[in-house]
Amino acid sequence: MIEGMQGIGMTSPRTRERMIKRLMEQGIGSLKVLDVMRNTPRHIFMDEALASRAYEDTALPIGYNQTISQPYIVAKMTELLLESTTGRLAKVLEIGTGCGYQTAILAQLVDHVYSVERIAPLQKKAKDHLWDLKLKNVSYLHNDGGWGWPEHAPYDGILVAAAPPEIPEMLLQQMTVGGVMVIPIGSGGDQRLQRVTRTESGYELEELEPVLFVPFLSGRK
Ligand code: SAH
Repeated sequence: MIEGMQGIGMTSPRTRERMIKRLMEQGIGSLKVLDVMRNTPRHIFMDEALASRAYEDTALPIGYNQTISQPYIVAKMTELLLESTTGRLAKVLEIGTGCGYQTAILAQLVDHVYSVERIAPLQKKAKDHLWDLKLKNVSYLHNDGGWGWPEHAPYDGILVAAAPPEIPEMLLQQMTVGGVMVIPIGSGGDQRLQRVTRTESGYELEELEPVLFVPFLSGRK
């Protein structure tokens, strides 16, 4: 438990257990994912004014016009990524660090997370939160994630937390054979979650459920 975060009930095991129960009802079946989400404080990733709502099933503002992803989406994307293999994923590239909550979940389930964010102050806060949680197997890059992070490629998994109109070519190039990318594609109210698997001969695409993400923007801020 992190100092100063006790009290007022929002960290109570019951509040978190309710979130886990809801995730199970929504179809999340991976016990590994559920366990990690049960044990990761979500409220420390947001401003105090919103912390009491941290375990609700909703996206919430984190500043700079961005949102922390809703618990269901974090769980679903993580589960889709992990399903791809029976072993532990070694290297995962995350595009859109945001407040760092998804990063913290991934860091507990894979060997190393490489996380790219275009808004510097958001990424700075995320770093501080993960440091507080003693999650050290994460490297951060302030850049436009459309370029991926070629220096550490190829990746076994890529998770994209903002929606581009189409799959960025550079990200496809940075996947290992057998690797998986989970990414929302589309614009405005017309987005779909997709899972791309790289095979010996090319890429396989699965179109999954409709989603609502912030847009994938180019350039750095
Ligand atoms: N998983 C994060 C999601 C944050 S919202 C969380 O739960 O906090 C999506 C994030 O993607 C935002 O922080 C936004 O700045 C970032 N983003 C959008 N386009 C990007 C790009 N081209 N490169 C890197 N980050 C991007």
